[in-house]
Amino acid sequence: MVMTPPGPTDIDPAKDLISEVGRKFAKRALCVFAHPDDLEFTSGGTVSRLCAEGWRVDILVTTSGNKGTKDPHVTGQMLAGEREEEARNAARIMGANEPIFLGFHDGGTTNDDELRALLVRQIRRSRPELVITWDGFRPGFNHRDHRVAGQAVYDAIYPSSDDHLYYPMDKEEGLEPHRPAAMLLAGSPTPDYHVDIGEHFRTKVRAILAHTSQMGGRREADMVRMYQERAKQANAEHPDLPVLRESFAKVVWRR
Ligand SMILES: [Zn+2]
Repeated sequence: MVMTPPGPTDIDPAKDLISEVGRKFAKRALCVFAHPDDLEFTSGGTVSRLCAEGWRVDILVTTSGNKGTKDPHVTGQMLAGEREEEARNAARIMGANEPIFLGFHDGGTTNDDELRALLVRQIRRSRPELVITWDGFRPGFNHRDHRVAGQAVYDAIYPSSDDHLYYPMDKEEGLEPHRPAAMLLAGSPTPDYHVDIGEHFRTKVRAILAHTSQMGGRREADMVRMYQERAKQANAEHPDLPVLRESFAKVVWRR
């Protein structure tokens, strides 16, 4: 059997995916999540690590989380403004760019042509080599907006963003087709990629706490303790994995 030698841009499955993508392509990431704090909870350590390693990280949030309160005196519009500001603060803490909000209503997203066109446009603008989003195909209970975001991003990358006949109006803005090199899916039931966030764990906690409307006055020391306890328990089951970690399912796109 003749084996084709790997090309210069082939990702070596034996090596760390993020390092491979950054070395062989470009250090550009795009995170697409459904609510203003989804990223910080699932990937805040990973994003902090990317930023510390010189990556440019763009963030797109499909809704403004304008229903995420039980306070009867708060209107959706007030909450959206507050939560967008919290997400901007969190992005600053992690070192990422200011988030872009698509402004759909909380619970109101659909994987349709409108959403996909907006996602494709952002992929062509940001030109990420790494995309981080929800696992939209996770079975069982899931938030509608999480499922929709994950599936719409998948559909936006393949087949749309790299084919010029999809959303040709992007061309008028000078946006060329683009396909990222890889994707990390958060919330997967079968994660196969683990990021050691030990060095960036406190940054993650601070980014989560920037979401003050959701965090009910929790203190950093308590959050740190809670996460460390949880990590210790999880580590007993998987002693081979990093103690403080974020886990994803990885997808590598062929080019
Ligand atoms: Zn969410």
